[in-house]
Amino acid sequence: MNAVRSLVRQLPRKLIDGRKFHVCATLCQTNPRPLTEFTDDELMMKETVAKLAKDEILPIVRKMEKEGKIDDGLLQSLFANGLMGMEIPEKYGGTGSNFMSTILMVEELAKVDGAVAALVDIHNTLVNSLIIKVGTEEQKAKYLPNLAQKYPGSFCLTEPSAGSDAFSLKTVAKKDGSDYVINGTKMWISNSDIAGVFLVFANADPSAGYRGITTFFVDRETPGLTVAKPEDKLGIKASGTCMLHFDNVRVPESNILGEFGHGYKYAAGFLNEGRVGIGAQMIGMAQGSLDVTIPYTLERKQFGQDIFSFQSMQHQIAQAVTEVESARLLVYNAARLVEAKKPFAKEAAMAKLIASETAVRVTAKCIDFMGGVGYTTDFPQEKFFRDCKIGTIYEGTSNMQLSTIAKAIRKEYS
Ligand SMILES: Cc1cc2nc3c(=O)[nH]c(=O)nc-3n(C[C@H](O)[C@H](O)[C@H](O)COP(=O)(O)OP(=O)(O)OC[C@H]3O[C@@H](n4cnc5c(N)ncnc54)[C@H](O)[C@@H]3O)c2cc1C
Repeated sequence: MNAVRSLVRQLPRKLIDGRKFHVCATLCQTNPRPLTEFTDDELMMKETVAKLAKDEILPIVRKMEKEGKIDDGLLQSLFANGLMGMEIPEKYGGTGSNFMSTILMVEELAKVDGAVAALVDIHNTLVNSLIIKVGTEEQKAKYLPNLAQKYPGSFCLTEPSAGSDAFSLKTVAKKDGSDYVINGTKMWISNSDIAGVFLVFANADPSAGYRGITTFFVDRETPGLTVAKPEDKLGIKASGTCMLHFDNVRVPESNILGEFGHGYKYAAGFLNEGRVGIGAQMIGMAQGSLDVTIPYTLERKQFGQDIFSFQSMQHQIAQAVTEVESARLLVYNAARLVEAKKPFAKEAAMAKLIASETAVRVTAKCIDFMGGVGYTTDFPQEKFFRDCKIGTIYEGTSNMQLSTIAKAIRKEYS
């Protein structure tokens, strides 16, 4: 230790805020580690989920895609293995894990199936997270045990006329005695085919503009709530995405989550966190596709040699692997910032932007590396390619991520 101190003393000094610092003193104190190093708990989670994905998800991926729904037995297993209550404290029946573990879990699931990863990611990073952080004790006691062990939840922000411009939403919640009556339509709501509870963003004071947006718990059985049939999508087909209609849906005032009029803050804040999860889903799919493609390039022979031996193939594969690793580091860095409670909105937007654009590029390349067979449903590459396209759209399109990043840049330079 003394040797380290004396080494630090020999370092050049820098004046910051009127105080002299050794250039690396702060770094030495915070003991920086590579972003790809994890705690024992995080590693254990990663390995456990990788095994579950291989043993329980891989054999039924195509069946679930064909049926357009998550297998019931698998859903039970996700609950039983604690994956649906990752950050829910143990006293509410959750796993009591950290954000990085959730991110590693989503990445591992996505290596095998993007749809299961979408279900688990949205449930943990948007629904559970919001309730854990702003719910009352009563709400936590009522909903968290169910979300950890019984049913998934949905995050209901988007509407037919309010997508990127989410806070122009038209769903209203009108006060009636000690109740609120909700009317409106939500669109593209993930997990809504199987959710037991919906976190609904509705304007409870339209005269205040977006400052009237308030978040409500709406239980699935509430009269007046209808869930339409799932959309037929390009990818993540087993992840149910439905339209919801609210026709005089009556909920008590105690169903307000967090503070009245703070819905826009919760949506913006928690979507920032959610974007790190989508980044993890994207690097998972890109890696999953590479993992089944690279071995094929080492096996497949053309012109008397394996196709990996051609320099032009090697360079493209090296480029793809490097791009995925760069995206992964952005995702892990954003996750560590979340855990350190440091500002992370810009980093989350960067992680989601690069991870999703990279996944689209790399999974398309994997089809090229496979040749004709990559274009068939006998191989998983075409599914990875279709599944990952959602990453440039949900939880904010790539354009919206660029806008968030640009806003931060303007602030930094103004
Ligand atoms: C499979 C799926 C699952 C989803 N899950 C959920 C969910 O669980 N909960 C939920 O609330 N929502 C969910 N969504 C909705 C999703 O977040 C929205 O689709 C997304 O935010 C884009 O909105 P939009 O579809 O209305 O597109 P639009 O906002 O109409 O955008 C269309 C195009 O215009 C561009 N554009 C729009 N405004 C600007 C601007 N200011 N500057 C530059 N370009 C702009 C966009 O980048 C895009 O390219 C889901 C969507 C899908 C497809």
